[in-house]
Amino acid sequence: MRSRGVTARVPAKVNLQLSVGPLGADGFHEVTTVFQAISLFDDVTVATAEKGEGVKISITGQTSGGVPADNSNLAVKAAQLMIKNYDLPEDLVIKLKKEIPVAGGMAGGSADAAGVIVGLDSLFELGLSRDVMESVGSKIGSDVPFSICGGVAIGTGRGDQITPALAKGSYNWVLALSGQGLATPSVYQECDRLREGLSIAAPVVSEPLMQALRAGDAKALGKALTNELQPAACSLRPALRLVLDVGVDYGALGGIVSGSGPTVAFLVSDDDHAMDLTVALSSSGVVSSVVRASGPTNGARIIESF
Ligand code: ATP
Repeated sequence: MRSRGVTARVPAKVNLQLSVGPLGADGFHEVTTVFQAISLFDDVTVATAEKGEGVKISITGQTSGGVPADNSNLAVKAAQLMIKNYDLPEDLVIKLKKEIPVAGGMAGGSADAAGVIVGLDSLFELGLSRDVMESVGSKIGSDVPFSICGGVAIGTGRGDQITPALAKGSYNWVLALSGQGLATPSVYQECDRLREGLSIAAPVVSEPLMQALRAGDAKALGKALTNELQPAACSLRPALRLVLDVGVDYGALGGIVSGSGPTVAFLVSDDDHAMDLTVALSSSGVVSSVVRASGPTNGARIIESF
């Protein structure tokens, strides 16, 4: 008998590189980014419901505050698109258990959309390939395809054209979280404002970064981290500069604003180092909380069916 529901576990991401091209005529920027999936997860359960219920969503977990429980939730949007594309029953229950920070530049909403797509594929035995699921995901948001893919991957276009990258090693991260998120569109607008009058080249993948990943060299990776949205995020939230300074003072291999921020991700050499930096950041008074994670990890995967 087919199961009544399934749970997918989906990782957060950090951008090891984020290069932003000029503002296009369509209002979007072409980007080149290198993603790494890290061990902070949302669990997304999808289950069949009584006829006439429609799509219902409930949200729990450490980071559930401020997440919309209506049709604007990316998980609901993903469910509606899957129902339409694959003629699925219209009555579904979605349960999100959130651990990924909200509006933190770590693709929390995208992770939930990815969980719904992978979950419904499994629940209704659709047999979709990863490529097809990523293409459905790209209609919901630029980071959804990577949340499905996981590991380490290059994203081009709007970050939604994913190519898995050759990478060795496992990396330790210390993440400095802010109490208040930053809206991605405002950070891009600030980036455009700061760049006014400058000529901006098309974005390309960083060769030193790819070399560090191929070699599994954490020290070289720390030096090669780049984020062209970082000046804009720091301009909107000057305290981020102080957070980045704490990382430098405590010998992080590298530190970077993740995506559009405001989470700051520090690469550290080992557990001892991670502990020292965690304590320093926690007592600095400039971050709201600190969490540790490692990467890379898998993309969205089914962990339970019932
Ligand atoms: P990205 O890194 O992809 O730019 P982000 O991690 O900065 O995204 P999200 O956590 O995805 O940001 O949240 C951005 C906004 O999207 C939130 O402020 C919230 O209003 C809305 N949102 C919609 N669906 C979700 C969801 N399932 N989880 C979290 N936020 C959601």
